[in-house]
Amino acid sequence: MSEKSFATSLSCIDGRVQLPMINWIKEKYLVDYVDTITAPGIDKVISDNDVQSIKKSVMISVSNHKSSHIVISGHFGCAGNPVSDEEHFAQIKKSVEVVNSWNLNVDVIGVWIDENFVPNLL
Ligand SMILES: [Zn+2]
Repeated sequence: MSEKSFATSLSCIDGRVQLPMINWIKEKYLVDYVDTITAPGIDKVISDNDVQSIKKSVMISVSNHKSSHIVISGHFGCAGNPVSDEEHFAQIKKSVEVVNSWNLNVDVIGVWIDENFVPNLL
């Protein structure tokens, strides 16, 4: 039995974003599974460095599942973080910096999920 591969999705709780993100990550990074960690408006949460519980979940994904990529997304029409698209872009980029500062030795990627719920690499 070969070892299964994992990546990690840090996304909003919004039910419209889960499947698009999981499918995009599986296709782009060729992993078998995507661990999914959610919080309402997670791009704001991480960029504000309010990361205690999120970091704990990420550590499990990276340590136990050897996750290869951490993908942080924000999305159009976010009820948990109702700011402009430009503000989302800035928060997502800041969130990537925050998670990179944890020195986990994995790739950290920022994604914007647009009005058609299509993920776009930032
Ligand atoms: Zn949202």
